[in-house]
Amino acid sequence: MFSERLKAFEKKGLLRSIRDREPRHGALSHIHFNGERYINFASNDYLGLAASKHLTDAAADALVEFGFGAGASRLLSGGTRLHCELETAVASFKGTEAALLFNSGYTANMSVLPSISGEGDIIFSDELNHASLIDACRLSKAQKVIYRHADAAHLGELIENAEGKRKIVVSDTVFSMEGDVAPLKDIVAICKENDALLYVDDAHGTGVLGNGRGAMAHYCIRPEPWIIQMGTFSKALGSYGAFVAAGAGIIEWLINTARGLIFSTALPSCVIAASLKALRIVESGAHKQEFVAKLWRNRERLFDGLHALGLNTLRSETPIIPIVAGDVNKTMEISRALLDRRIYCPAIRPPTVTLPRLRVTVTAAHSESDIDTLLGVLKEMRL
Ligand SMILES: *Cc1c(COP(=O)(O)O)cnc(C)c1O
Repeated sequence: MFSERLKAFEKKGLLRSIRDREPRHGALSHIHFNGERYINFASNDYLGLAASKHLTDAAADALVEFGFGAGASRLLSGGTRLHCELETAVASFKGTEAALLFNSGYTANMSVLPSISGEGDIIFSDELNHASLIDACRLSKAQKVIYRHADAAHLGELIENAEGKRKIVVSDTVFSMEGDVAPLKDIVAICKENDALLYVDDAHGTGVLGNGRGAMAHYCIRPEPWIIQMGTFSKALGSYGAFVAAGAGIIEWLINTARGLIFSTALPSCVIAASLKALRIVESGAHKQEFVAKLWRNRERLFDGLHALGLNTLRSETPIIPIVAGDVNKTMEISRALLDRRIYCPAIRPPTVTLPRLRVTVTAAHSESDIDTLLGVLKEMRL
């Protein structure tokens, strides 16, 4: 029934497939497929925590203490004291009154936006927002207005014309395919002026920007009751799950209305224990040098090297670095050539992005020699 449609994907070079790595110990900066070892520039494990003993030990201890499955949703006592401890830790980490856990970043966005907006409201959304935010906007009954990517002036114009309605501005902090950062200072000022709620998705900012504290800390923006910060444990924090940090009133509203919280089983306690451990690491001064500072040193080394080769990295300001080097076929060809050299660096194609690109993510777990290997191979290719 779908085979004709799939054939059409294949013809355009747009067929996707799942690639499973083999179990090996060690950081995700190196992965194994078909018995071969590759340097991995495709993971969001920015701090190299995902496979670390810090997290596996914390999870193993909690597994013994609490068992595996949660058994029910949080509202039906599926959660444990660890869930509550993690929420308290997140609120203190983000400087908000309260926080609430969700089972994934996707679930958080899909649950929270429809819960805080509805008929008669208007959502203003950056044109390059993550797919989960786009889906969440579709699920909300609010009217949607798209503003040009990272263009606060455009947002300002559009929002002024929305007199009388309840307004919600929605943006990624770090854009996952571009690696640039939203102009949050300007966006916050516009929200304040126009009495709008702000919902930020800090999936790629948490653990990375603002000395690990996220995009709001990066810009020195103080939390406000009308700012809702979503973040994930699944990227820099190396675990799984997500959180929303906001004023106590909003969190209580979400507990009562967010369907992904109410109608879904809580995350296992061992996952929560790993998230808690990762958060403690990012908060601790001693570990910051080892993880956050190393991430940024690696990012600068790769970024400077790519620029020395004259490559186009769009507006990247973060460890997400796109490399634009031609059309879909050319980009696929480069990605395959890198794979032959044991470097995993996937091509990102339409419809995920309009402009095909290699998407490189560099992490604290890469060595200088990993980075130099990538730069050396790209140099040989004379792109
Ligand atoms: C990855 C990502 C999500 C989804 O988070 P998961 O925990 O993987 O479901 C949401 N928003 C952004 C911007 C992301 O990059």
